[in-house]
Amino acid sequence: MSNEDCINDLSRYNGYMCLNSAMFHTLEEQTIYTAIRAIQKQIPKKINNRSVIKNFPISVHGDCPTCGSKNLSSADTDYCNACGQKLDWTDDNLKD
Ligand SMILES: [Zn+2]
Repeated sequence: MSNEDCINDLSRYNGYMCLNSAMFHTLEEQTIYTAIRAIQKQIPKKINNRSVIKNFPISVHGDCPTCGSKNLSSADTDYCNACGQKLDWTDDNLKD
């Protein structure tokens, strides 16, 4: 089952189709929302303000698309060290 399938299944649990936390009032609903948020962070998101540092080895720098954490480096991690978002360092428009 893909991450997207898990999110869709959890979103439908008890008939809830909205990911807005304001709709969730019970502990069970909060747990489902937390699980959805955790799975969403496993789906890579393209970094913002991408720049390529052409040292050796070449590294890519950018900002987290989820929390806005600045100047993350592909040489350090594939995840944001502030919020845990999985990061996609690629740029479809550029050849590195
Ligand atoms: Zn982040």
